[in-house]
Amino acid sequence: MSGTGGIGGAGGTAVADLRELLRGEVIGPADSGYDEARALYNAMIDRRPAVVARCADTTDVRAALRYARDHDMDLSVRGGGHSGAGQSVVDGALVVDLSDGLRWVRVDPEARTALVGGGTQLGDLDHEAHGYGLGVPAGVMSTTGVGGLTLGGGHGHLTRRYGLTVDSLTGADVVLADGTTVTASADEHPDLFWALRGGGGNFGIVTAFRFALHPVDTVGLGVTLWEPERIGHVLRWYREFLPNAPEDVNGFFAVLTVAPGPPFPEELHHRKMCGVVWCLTGPTDEESLAEALAPVAEPGPPAFHFATPIPYPALQAMFDELIPKGLQWYWRGDLFDRITDDAVDTHREFLERMPTELSTMHLYPVDGATRRTGPMDTAWAYRDAVWSGVIAGIGTEPAEADAVRAWARDYWSALHPQSMGAAYVNFLGEEEGEGRVRDTYRGHYDRLREVKRTYDPDNVFHHNQNIAP
Ligand code: FAD
Repeated sequence: MSGTGGIGGAGGTAVADLRELLRGEVIGPADSGYDEARALYNAMIDRRPAVVARCADTTDVRAALRYARDHDMDLSVRGGGHSGAGQSVVDGALVVDLSDGLRWVRVDPEARTALVGGGTQLGDLDHEAHGYGLGVPAGVMSTTGVGGLTLGGGHGHLTRRYGLTVDSLTGADVVLADGTTVTASADEHPDLFWALRGGGGNFGIVTAFRFALHPVDTVGLGVTLWEPERIGHVLRWYREFLPNAPEDVNGFFAVLTVAPGPPFPEELHHRKMCGVVWCLTGPTDEESLAEALAPVAEPGPPAFHFATPIPYPALQAMFDELIPKGLQWYWRGDLFDRITDDAVDTHREFLERMPTELSTMHLYPVDGATRRTGPMDTAWAYRDAVWSGVIAGIGTEPAEADAVRAWARDYWSALHPQSMGAAYVNFLGEEEGEGRVRDTYRGHYDRLREVKRTYDPDNVFHHNQNIAP
């Protein structure tokens, strides 16, 4: 598909036609709900699709896909709407929106599995699984979509303990470009199953994911903050401590501005600092948490340290209010197998230059249990990485967009030579180009292209980090 469809041709009647075909709500530019339906998490992106098809079920998904193909309309797929590049909502396109009718979770506590609709948010899955003391390793915000996150790989607080999100994926129901529905698993369409585990939204529309669940109940949340001038000591300590820590210790490093509220004391509010957010999946009594995190004193006394037991879903929802939908986002990422002295200097410089209070840089650990899956077993190509870094310029007002964009770009340019030369696919921006997508997939790229040629030879699914057939 050329991607030039849209309002032209038969697209103008798409809203009326699709209303006859679909059970779910169909929203066009003339409808009062249009602005809400097209809004993305990232308010820096403002796109006007021809129609948003809020699919009620798989039959609606197939009908919407068929309609787009028959009428040469451009098509995008929306799960949780968290794409930083806004690839799930496209000007003039038909948006296959899964976030309403395909937002559901069914947990089988005996089998320790979950069947999850393609438009579900992480918080829905955390909530249902937690009812049985179970969980899936995924991202650090409850409002992110299971769909986009899983298809890119997925990492978060439980990664060192249980691996990437795709390492717990055991199957997926997929609507393919030709409208047929298949199940992909180790036994059925294994080539597709391999590609779905990291290859992004290139291969079809996933209407349901099957996950193996793990025991996760109350976890230990820790936050340690240090003064900005200690960043050199902190990073030199952290780069040794974290990779050698037991797998039940996860801690992502951050440069940040302290939020003005509990648990932080007032004298730290609005101050730039560096720190680590910990998630401990071992024993969570006071003594055990204190013992596990005793090493935080080694780089010098923290300005703030706090550790407490917390239900896993509450940890996952911790940032939801701080960074709600509708902010200005610009992010850049890279993967790291070490933190060099030059990288330490760069982090120090850009911590001082942070343009807004919400802007931040995170280094998420992707070692530990991630290494238990072989490098060729899934499309995720960096099992030798230790951190997945993201530089997120975040503003509250459109007037801040230029400043957050410039800071993130300059920080990334300075840091990139100290990286493994590629980013986690879900931390790529839209304009980064085919070369960066190739780098993300390293030696897996050609195999991914072969799978793409088999399942989507016309590149119907091209609003993603595209692997062209
Ligand atoms: P959408 O914008 O809905 O979709 C993005 C793309 O995914 C679509 O264009 C489509 O190609 C594809 N897609 C989505 N659902 C489906 C489906 N069911 N079938 C086929 N294709 C589909 N990532 C992490 O790994 N860990 C984190 O901790 C983390 N934290 C984040 C925090 C925030 C605030 C944000 C904004 C993002 C975060 N991310 C994280 C990145 C996140 O994984 C990606 O942005 C991801 O694409 C979001 O998925 P979504 O379904 O919400 O996005």
